[in-house]
Amino acid sequence: MTEDQQELTHPSIVDGWFREASDEFFPGQAFMIKVEKILYSKKSEFQDILVFKSTNFGNVLVLDGIIQVTERDEFAYQEMITHIPLFSHPNPKKILVIGGGDGGVLREVVKHDCVESATLVEIDDMVIKLSKKYLPNMAKSYDHEKVNVILQDGFKFLKDCGESNLNENKYDVIITDSSDPEGPAEAFFEQDYFKLLYNALNKDGIVISMASENVWLNINNLKKLKNTCETIFPLVKTCYCTIPTYTSGQISLMCCSKDINNDISKPSRKFSKEKESELFKYYNSDIHSASFILPNWAQGILKN
Ligand code: SAM
Repeated sequence: MTEDQQELTHPSIVDGWFREASDEFFPGQAFMIKVEKILYSKKSEFQDILVFKSTNFGNVLVLDGIIQVTERDEFAYQEMITHIPLFSHPNPKKILVIGGGDGGVLREVVKHDCVESATLVEIDDMVIKLSKKYLPNMAKSYDHEKVNVILQDGFKFLKDCGESNLNENKYDVIITDSSDPEGPAEAFFEQDYFKLLYNALNKDGIVISMASENVWLNINNLKKLKNTCETIFPLVKTCYCTIPTYTSGQISLMCCSKDINNDISKPSRKFSKEKESELFKYYNSDIHSASFILPNWAQGILKN
């Protein structure tokens, strides 16, 4: 029997259900999705990769046991992590995406005509290959003329950018679409990383990072990350999106601006309502501002 003909298995799938029991959840809590078929299950050089077809969420990509994207709800996260910083910036031309191998953020970035280049730095080529095969609606912009892909560790890439000190290595918006802190993305939650981001930005640049946290579950970690960012950036705010398959249905994003006078919680640019509904399923200019408004108890801690 060839490798392809063998029945695939994965330790997170038992009795036809995938189970995520992430450290990001409350103790004693887990999330499950019914599996129709395992499409791929193997360790790459960097991480454990699982792709399965689910009964209700389409194809699902899982890295090191944590859901990265499902075809059913990915648009919520991809649109918010992309359009919040791009619409907050008055004229974003050069965009850098760190991670994001599924291609969903790139798909959103190229919806802005003002963007001249979108560079994606992904550590694991296998994620890109599998996304092209099993997540074609996310990976659809890899051949776009403005897109440039670099296979490298994002931390190392930014360090080299900083050391070169050339203006051509500066960006208007940097999006960190990484996996969770345990594994190859660990460094993306530390102060040194935010220093590198700061140095790689133009003077009115904006960064946004997947904070890997839900205000309900781990607000103290979120506060810690916000404090870290505030040691580097003059303006830091937390926003969020709702999405059923991440950390209990809500995920926070950390947004930082180099320009203290650019209130990132308000869009600097807007598309018409018609264009918004033609291009986006989740983002609009009202939800942009609303996503920065937190419940009283969370606002008391995060002081947004
Ligand atoms: N939206 C997803 C989420 O919130 O869970 C993340 C999507 S994307 C699949 C995350 C990507 O970050 C992965 O493809 C992973 O390989 C990549 N990644 C992790 N560490 C990295 C590093 N040090 N440099 C570049 N890419 C990295």
